[in-house]
Amino acid sequence: MSRYVPEDVETKWQRIWEEGGHFHVEADPSRPKYYVLEMFPYPSGRIHMGHVRNYSIGDVVARFKRMEGHNVLHPMGWDAFGMPAENAAIKHKLHPAAWTISNIDSMRVQLQRLGYSYDWRREIATCHPGYYVHEQRFFLKFLEKGLVYRKHSPQNWCETCGTVLANEQVIDGCCWRCDQPVVQKDLEQWFLRITDYAEELLADLETLVGGWPERVLTMQRNWIGKSVGAELTFPLAAPIDGADGAEGITVFTTRPDTLFGATFMSLAAEHPLVPRLIAGTPQEAAVAAFVDKVRNLDRIVRSADDLEKEGVFTGAYCINPATGCEIPIYVANFVLMGYGTGAVMAVPAHDQRDFEFARKYDLPLTVVIQPEGETLDATALEAAYTEPGLLVASGEFTGLPNEAAKSAIIDWLDASGRGKKSINYRLRDWNISRQRYWGAPIPVIYCEKCGIVPVPDIDLPVELPRDLALMPDGRSPLPHAPSFTDVACPLCSGKARRETDTLDTFFESSWYFARYASAREQDRPFDPAELAYWLPVDQYIGGIEHAILHLLYSRFFIKALRDCGLVGFNEPFANLLTQGMVIKDGSKMSKSKGNVVDPDIMIAKYGADTVRVFILFAAPPEKDLEWSDTGIEGASRFLSRLWRLVTGELSGLLTPVAPCSSAESLCTGDLPPIFAELRRREHATAAKAGADIRERFQFNTAIAAAMELVNFLYANVDALRAEPRGAKAVSSAVGTLLTVLSPIAPHICEELWQTIGHTALLINQPWPAHDPSALVTDEVEIVVQVCGKLRGKISVARDASNADVERAALAEVNVVKHIEGKTIRKVIVVPGKLVNVVAN
Ligand SMILES: [Zn+2]
Ligand SMILES: [Zn+2]
Repeated sequence: MSRYVPEDVETKWQRIWEEGGHFHVEADPSRPKYYVLEMFPYPSGRIHMGHVRNYSIGDVVARFKRMEGHNVLHPMGWDAFGMPAENAAIKHKLHPAAWTISNIDSMRVQLQRLGYSYDWRREIATCHPGYYVHEQRFFLKFLEKGLVYRKHSPQNWCETCGTVLANEQVIDGCCWRCDQPVVQKDLEQWFLRITDYAEELLADLETLVGGWPERVLTMQRNWIGKSVGAELTFPLAAPIDGADGAEGITVFTTRPDTLFGATFMSLAAEHPLVPRLIAGTPQEAAVAAFVDKVRNLDRIVRSADDLEKEGVFTGAYCINPATGCEIPIYVANFVLMGYGTGAVMAVPAHDQRDFEFARKYDLPLTVVIQPEGETLDATALEAAYTEPGLLVASGEFTGLPNEAAKSAIIDWLDASGRGKKSINYRLRDWNISRQRYWGAPIPVIYCEKCGIVPVPDIDLPVELPRDLALMPDGRSPLPHAPSFTDVACPLCSGKARRETDTLDTFFESSWYFARYASAREQDRPFDPAELAYWLPVDQYIGGIEHAILHLLYSRFFIKALRDCGLVGFNEPFANLLTQGMVIKDGSKMSKSKGNVVDPDIMIAKYGADTVRVFILFAAPPEKDLEWSDTGIEGASRFLSRLWRLVTGELSGLLTPVAPCSSAESLCTGDLPPIFAELRRREHATAAKAGADIRERFQFNTAIAAAMELVNFLYANVDALRAEPRGAKAVSSAVGTLLTVLSPIAPHICEELWQTIGHTALLINQPWPAHDPSALVTDEVEIVVQVCGKLRGKISVARDASNADVERAALAEVNVVKHIEGKTIRKVIVVPGKLVNVVAN
């Protein structure tokens, strides 16, 4: 028996696989393709256990699909722009480019040491000008189509990171990256018109049902936040600043059924009508002061449920178009300009915020929905009534159930020209400007005469200059570098200035998966034939934290590229698996908690195969995985047992027989029954492991099936060795064992496969085709009754004698309980069916 030295075995096969180019793939329309992809990492410098889990799952899927005959694309690359590089570079007095590239080099070595089956020829790093030149072209194409635009507005600003953030990047009021509170800052920024795609992004989620976790679909639906309601106008009661009297305030409401209960109007502090309503009135000073105060409040604070509702009367009135009554116009601190129209028809009896506001300022309440069998009293209400009911005090709609009244009132408004059905979305346009240095430059030039001028294609890429010294406070050096900013206008040749903001790094990750199809294509982002063959991604694997961010952006980006004629598919990821976290001592591994287990140390101690087996065996992929030292010891012992079995216990017996060989070729006919049982177990293992991996990605139960077969072989070594004619049957079973384990622990299986005498590589073997007839057992299940009542079930050999069946029945645990203390009068055996014990 030879000694198992994982490092020797693993580096040997990694070298052979790589030198042979075995994981290199080319598009081949004659073969079915399968594209499996793990979310690419940020090159922080070290891989962590979360990466190992993510990539090990992907690698099993890739290797398994390959064995099943698919042409498998399995690439890897680097999400290489971003702030951590910049901050680390400032700290260590290095350039972000140098820091990033050295991190990529060391992480690549770590991944290679784990034996992942990547086609490394397709590796990409998004900070390479050869990558971002294409997205600068996308940007200009979007600009040409009006899909990207510039807007001055209050933006989410993270002081710590020194940049703006998109709405999706603000989590509970804090920055997604550094977890510090986000404030509002007025800035002029570039936006992508993701809202143009809101309906399609929502509708196409239906095409992902079954392929994506329901939880992710729900999160995206909620984030897009479609609401159907009415847009209607409340005419002003009196003309203002000399304009004619036809002006009005437009509101969007999802509750048109409560229109008759609208008793006042609430405007956002920023509503453009406010200054005009108060100009020259006695309220002017008070309202202006309130507006100032509210505008300085953070938007997140203003939209919080627990905000103290405050407001001020403008002195002006408008008319409820349903009741014809004049209602007062207020400015309220909880109304935001960015959502809806910045004006809210207030229905205090049926909306809690309006209720609190009305109680505070003593405004009237009108109940317009009554719960069935109850009468609400407006003066006695302690909270808004928001449940269903029947309309009251609502003109011709009185008596209608409120849900039905919604569309009836919309139709009525529409017919009289006072309003119309309207659809609103919660989704906002995506702010893609960043005020940091380490990103792809936005390719436009500002000319005093010509305005915004796209950088001509011939001048692309606009390369990020790498010779600038970083500022110690993290501010971008770009605006202060005349060599970068000062350019001649491409149109008039006059003095002009280059844009110094860079693109949000989510811009890079929104299309990288498509780039892998033709990663070395120079003049265009994609080779159309490669793209058509490989995309969309068949199986995408990554963390749930990207449920909205990266996954929503990518879906939008692909649709936008499709509408630019650049890609021919609608959705980037047909199937999505969100793997759980790796936790230790109850919480996610993190430096600050001091519970990090370093993959390198584990690989050095146990080998890559053991780390892979542990991480795949400890939990199903979508569940959190608790790190366990005894667990990894167990995985290590299992592989050592496998090694000993093949090189020790069964040595000299095994020959290169094909896995799951046919019964005829093994001559099992006249062998002792243990060989039939071995064959049944061999085929059952192939069937179960195959189904577990193929249908459910349940690698843990697939490994358990292999472990059982190992145990069976150990338990019966002597019997199996005693019959030389059975050597082929044992060899077939061991071959099957190594083959089904090979996607999970590829190196040790390849080594043992060679040890047996196989000359072709195991990685190029097909998944063993089990023989369904081999699974049929020679046992039958028999029910056992005591005095006619079902008390248990036993398994017996099909040809067992009645005496054997009777003995087994009387030994069944539950049957024993029911005949205890009784005298057995008679035992009736119906062969192959049942046993009835008569006792009293
Ligand atoms: Zn931040
Ligand atoms: Zn110009």
